[in-house]
Amino acid sequence: MNVRDSEAVEALLVAAGHEKVANEAEAELVIVNSCTVRDMAERKAVGKCGNLIAAKEGRGKARRPANAAVKIVGLMGCAVKRMGAEVFKHLPNLDFAVGPRRFGAIPRLVERCLAGEKGILELPDDDEVPTGMEAHGVTSFQSYVTVLLGCDNRCSYCIVPDVRGHEYSRPAREVVAEVRALAARGVKEVCLLGQSVLRYGVRNPAWLPDDLPSLGGYTEAFPRLLEALSAIEGLERIRFTSAHPKGCTDELVRAYAEFPKVCRHLHLPVQSGSDRVLKEMGRRYTRAEYLAAVAKLRAFDPEFAVTTDVIVGYPGETEADFEATRSLMEEAGFDNAFVFKYSPRPGTRSAALPDDVPTAEKERRDQVLLADQQVRGQARNARLVGTVREVLVEGPSLRNAARWSGRDGGNRIVVFEPKVPLVVGTSVMVRIAEAHPQILIGEIVV
Ligand code: SAH
Ligand code: SF4
Repeated sequence: MNVRDSEAVEALLVAAGHEKVANEAEAELVIVNSCTVRDMAERKAVGKCGNLIAAKEGRGKARRPANAAVKIVGLMGCAVKRMGAEVFKHLPNLDFAVGPRRFGAIPRLVERCLAGEKGILELPDDDEVPTGMEAHGVTSFQSYVTVLLGCDNRCSYCIVPDVRGHEYSRPAREVVAEVRALAARGVKEVCLLGQSVLRYGVRNPAWLPDDLPSLGGYTEAFPRLLEALSAIEGLERIRFTSAHPKGCTDELVRAYAEFPKVCRHLHLPVQSGSDRVLKEMGRRYTRAEYLAAVAKLRAFDPEFAVTTDVIVGYPGETEADFEATRSLMEEAGFDNAFVFKYSPRPGTRSAALPDDVPTAEKERRDQVLLADQQVRGQARNARLVGTVREVLVEGPSLRNAARWSGRDGGNRIVVFEPKVPLVVGTSVMVRIAEAHPQILIGEIVV
């Protein structure tokens, strides 16, 4: 979501007459987009901003990168909303700070700073509808598109609703127009963004226009949006993230089956496998309900890729709770997983509970789950050896430029030798020869 917001800001600044430079050391204006979902994320953003301000003022250590050109330093995003005016206690010489739903104001703030102002603070309210959301730089064949802002779920540990505000679904007509414009500029793959993206249109269904009739008879907003986007010429793949199991309806599964552009991958954060912990977290599903959602997706396509987020060391998480998470991950057969060590966030319900799992134990649980996932990832990928997969070409592989890589519909990284001339953003068929925990290796078949 932050990557997307940054990209919009960049496009807005370019439209306002600014120029993008190749690297940070040449930039006169640097804006740090902050995350506050965990304490460490916020510290990194604030620390980076502090270094930039030191560079601007010509002080600091030699270790620091040479940001000799920097004249204006701004901070945007979730940490600004969390800290409010406190941000200037940590960063007294910051030029401007702007919260997440107000990034459209940035070109104007930059003008004010150029005119000599500093210390400007702009905080959006919880229902604010951002401007500038449709701005795109388009430097790739892939693009993010925000469809749902904010979150009303209020999971016990999570600061997102406090900083990103209330849930708001963008009008379908606006989203369709944005994706159509992207496709016209060569975008082949879009990823629709929302904290609980399958709730699109649930809070404000009026946004689904009557001039977007459903040929397939879909009644739910999100499948209807997928249907409308599927019809866009030139667009080849539609992804979306993140999902909540309550959104895995029969209509969603039907949309996966009916619309080949909709990739068969779902990022479905589970957080814990223990019913007791899930209840405390306020996740509103049980272990059994979660597993039923995964089973439904795999029943329709056994190769359907499911990935997840897990938190280890939630207050009061016992060894038995942790083992329940371990066994759930095995039963769900995740294709990939992100594991996070619990970090108390100010103002959340769980911050009032003692953070009683020791850091070393959180670390151990993290390592155990990651090791399990390596074995599981390898086993799941091994089932794909011999299959031919459609891969959208991304370019030379990062590790070995003699090889190229891309992704299949399940978002799996596929590496192959570029035997024929390849164009980034086009599809090739690759027969899988080798499986690794995180990648597949294969050969192009004509
Ligand atoms: N809206 C998404 C999650 C957004 S936050 C969802 O509910 O699925 C991304 C991930 O950060 C979460 O899935 C969770 O695993 C992790 N996370 C959120 N708050 C956290 C905290 N206080 N400590 C550790 N991890 C956290
Ligand atoms: Fe946070 Fe829960 Fe909302 Fe996800 S659904 S953003 S974890 S409150």
